[in-house]
Amino acid sequence: MKLIDGNAIAESIIEELTVQVGQIQGKKPVVAFIRVGDDPASVSYVRKKEKTAERIGIESRLYLLPEDVSKEALFAQIDSLNADPDINGILIQAPLPSHIDETETFNRVLPNKDVDGFNTLNIGKLCQEDDSGFVACTPAGIVELIKRSEIETEGKHVVVLGRSQIVGKPAALLMMRKALPGNATVTICHSRTQDLPSITRQADILIAAIGRANFVTGDMVQDGVAVIDVGINRVEDPSKKRGYRLVGDVEFDAVAPKASQITPVPGGVGPMTVAMLMHNTLRAFKAAQAG
Ligand code: NDP
Repeated sequence: MKLIDGNAIAESIIEELTVQVGQIQGKKPVVAFIRVGDDPASVSYVRKKEKTAERIGIESRLYLLPEDVSKEALFAQIDSLNADPDINGILIQAPLPSHIDETETFNRVLPNKDVDGFNTLNIGKLCQEDDSGFVACTPAGIVELIKRSEIETEGKHVVVLGRSQIVGKPAALLMMRKALPGNATVTICHSRTQDLPSITRQADILIAAIGRANFVTGDMVQDGVAVIDVGINRVEDPSKKRGYRLVGDVEFDAVAPKASQITPVPGGVGPMTVAMLMHNTLRAFKAAQAG
């Protein structure tokens, strides 16, 4: 079994981006983060993104809005960033409070500044295999992990657990693309799937993105499977200072011995998501420069 070191792979992408940004004369790329409220996970994710941007030489600007912000005020903030030529990318940290519609909010961001890839136009471009769009950062990170770990996808059976707009569905679309890494036969499973273990056992590559701690057990996979575990779940752990630890959707200790390659949690997909956001921001910047 080979461990897929997401930290190391993300680090090499960050180094590549740092070199590219270093070569830019004059004005550097700028990404805007909008955070609504003080959800601790959102605070920590945005901080991580700010730190990574700073390392690369991408400027980040943080816009904080209160939990009870009106839709109008949030949209006014997005509109002002859309209109600001200095801003190359806009990221609205999810989850948003329940009174704000996420899809409508993501669609308010101009497609050419939508570095999160959640805008309907960019999702449409992904469906059409039009590379001019932005691909959502977590699925883009999954593909990059697969590519850089030299996991063969052509003709393989990829089973994706989860059909969310931000992970499962785009990951499945990427795996079935008529390009590598893609050309796979893809099955998507969700909460209504019947006899899910009989499907996961057929997987050459298993992408788990359901948000259920240790859901995939050893008897649900075949020998040689490559496993990408997207899940980030908190489980109580009194031995930890903070009272919990993070685990994936895959029961690592039981599945790893059967796997050819597997991502750990943490240290797998998570760091890739941030690296791909920076990748998208640099692309947005270059496109804006090219006019
Ligand atoms: P969602 O809650 O939006 O989607 C979960 C999906 O899993 C749904 O399609 C749901 O089915 C399916 N599902 C839930 N329970 C089961 C079950 N028992 N059996 C089969 N399918 C099930 O989650 P996200 O896609 O946003 O996130 C998934 C996980 O990935 C989470 O742990 C999240 O924290 C993590 N994540 C990690 C990121 C990273 O950077 N590493 C980034 C984003 C997410 P249905 O559609 O029928 O409800």
